[in-house]
Amino acid sequence: MTDSLTSIAEAERALRAAAVKTSPRCLGMASFTDDATKPSEVAHICSRCPIKVECLAYARAARPAAGVWAGATWGGRESSHVAQRLDDAARIIAQDPEGVSITEVARRLDLHEGAARTVVQTLVRTGRATVVKRHRAPWTYRAVAA
Ligand code: SF4
Repeated sequence: MTDSLTSIAEAERALRAAAVKTSPRCLGMASFTDDATKPSEVAHICSRCPIKVECLAYARAARPAAGVWAGATWGGRESSHVAQRLDDAARIIAQDPEGVSITEVARRLDLHEGAARTVVQTLVRTGRATVVKRHRAPWTYRAVAA
């Protein structure tokens, strides 16, 4: 517990320091704190944010109960489950520098391909994976270096 609190505090410190230097666009925007906001409505802002890496690190450590962080919501049991699935998919993709197909992600996570595609697209939207072959099925993805 102490270790996880320490990592949350460190991630928060890093995020605050980065935010002071860059003033991310979400500061003061109600859509990032309003529970009615769908992450997809503001994800385009996060995808271009210069401190997205720090924001994502904090969100993954702290699982904030409200608001949009790094293009996603993190609070509640369901969100934790989704976050865990995203982490699992990111880990699978990162294991192969040549890229991993949607079919392989679906097989390893025991999902159907449509669900696996949604998971991978979320990783792409939040900057955790990059499409390396879009023109040929099955699509292949590789992890982005953080
Ligand atoms: S990634 Fe999104 S939520 Fe995080 S600091 Fe940047 S704009 Fe704000």
